[in-house]
Amino acid sequence: MSDYRGRFAPSPTGRLHFGSLVAAVASFARARTCSGAWLVRIEDLDPPRERPGAAQAMIQDLAHFGMHSDEPVLYQSGRDSAYREALNRLRDQGDLFPCGCARKDLKGHRVYPGTCEGGLPPGRSERSLRVRVRGTVSFTDAVQGPVTEVLADTTGAFIVRRADGLTAYQLAVVVDDHFQEITEVVRGSDLLDSTCRQIYLQTLLDLPRLDYVHLPIATGPGGEKLSKQTNAQPVDPQNPLPALVNAWRFLGQRAPTGTIATVDQFWARALPLWRLENIPRVREMQP
Ligand code: GLU
Repeated sequence: MSDYRGRFAPSPTGRLHFGSLVAAVASFARARTCSGAWLVRIEDLDPPRERPGAAQAMIQDLAHFGMHSDEPVLYQSGRDSAYREALNRLRDQGDLFPCGCARKDLKGHRVYPGTCEGGLPPGRSERSLRVRVRGTVSFTDAVQGPVTEVLADTTGAFIVRRADGLTAYQLAVVVDDHFQEITEVVRGSDLLDSTCRQIYLQTLLDLPRLDYVHLPIATGPGGEKLSKQTNAQPVDPQNPLPALVNAWRFLGQRAPTGTIATVDQFWARALPLWRLENIPRVREMQP
């Protein structure tokens, strides 16, 4: 085993669909071809959005596609004390401030206007916690190329603890990627614009940087991103080979030839053909 550690981190809001299969396949292929570990983390951080049984179903679906976590699955719902520790550290460093703005107060603002940054205005009480931003964040994505962001211009101070008391995705991901000793993140490029915020939090928390691979996004017939929210059709785990081959081709990879009867045969013949550099930046073709 090498030091490479990758992960697939679905939110348990529905069944595995083509878009999430693509992310699972790419992260799995990358871990295997780097002789590293592939971990599954269930991002069950947002109970109102979750469907009962979805996490288990997701893990079973992955198994039908021949993908098994190399270590016990990590559930974010059990990680609250680690998130609190990170929040305390940020607070002690002076990086956080309480924000009293409700969604309606920020209507029309793409970037947080700094309303509560100098202290809560009279009549407002703490709802969420935001992290102050400064400086420029840059990284080079293995597929998307160089990315540079001045967070003050793109998001402004952003939420790390939500008004409902839940830890924000950006912070939880950073804490858990570090906890699981992840070395490279492979995921859909819908999350590309979260990456600079995550790198910024890594810097504030003094955590090592990770490598990033952001995949083209699978779109539906209307060009919309395939997601559980847009009711993307689940893939059929009882008949995994066609979807597996489609996901592989979607990632720009040469499909194995000859008769393939099982997912294990697929992986055995497909993995030697995997080329990171063949992943397209964008994908016009629909799955
Ligand atoms: N849980 C996120 C999702 O399902 C992915 C998080 C990540 O890969 O960083 O969209």
